Amino acid sequence: MIFLNLKYILLINLVPVIMFAKDNCIFCQMAEKKKEVEIVAQFEHCFVIKDQYPVSPGHLLIIPYQHTENWFTSDNAVKEEIIRVLDKMKKLVDDEYHPDGYNIGMNCGQVAGQTVMHLHVHLIPRFEGDMDNPKGGVRGVIPSKQKY
Ligand code: AMP
Ligand code: ZN
Repeated sequence: MIFLNLKYILLINLVPVIMFAKDNCIFCQMAEKKKEVEIVAQFEHCFVIKDQYPVSPGHLLIIPYQHTENWFTSDNAVKEEIIRVLDKMKKLVDDEYHPDGYNIGMNCGQVAGQTVMHLHVHLIPRFEGDMDNPKGGVRGVIPSKQKY
């Protein structure tokens, strides 16, 4: 019985280690060219891909090469480049998709909805009429609080 409990305790402690491990990280695999992916653009600290399940046409992800969990664990050099890259990618998406607006988003932590535990910034083009009433935008992370 004691052994069984110890087993579960070990397993519970290992779950976050496995989930956040660089070895199992899909964006690290892309950065290290171990996983094939279409690269939209590359820069000194980060690269850009199309989101596999786009929220809207033109949805991009800006991803640093170096594994870091989220914006708050990231170096300033990476953050500064991401800010510049956002502007560049906006121009690229404008030219190709002609959206009417954008959402820029990061999920920091599982509780905030993060599923890939490697920093990435979503650039989501928005189009007139893509939903009934878009009021509140990113407030929709908690759907009942979107409209105010
Ligand atoms: P999140 O961690 O919640 O900010 O979301 C991770 C994002 O990564 C989702 O929007 C997924 O569609 C996207 N994603 C996951 N795997 C891939 C992949 N292999 N290629 C492109 N996008 C991906
Ligand atoms: Zn990673």
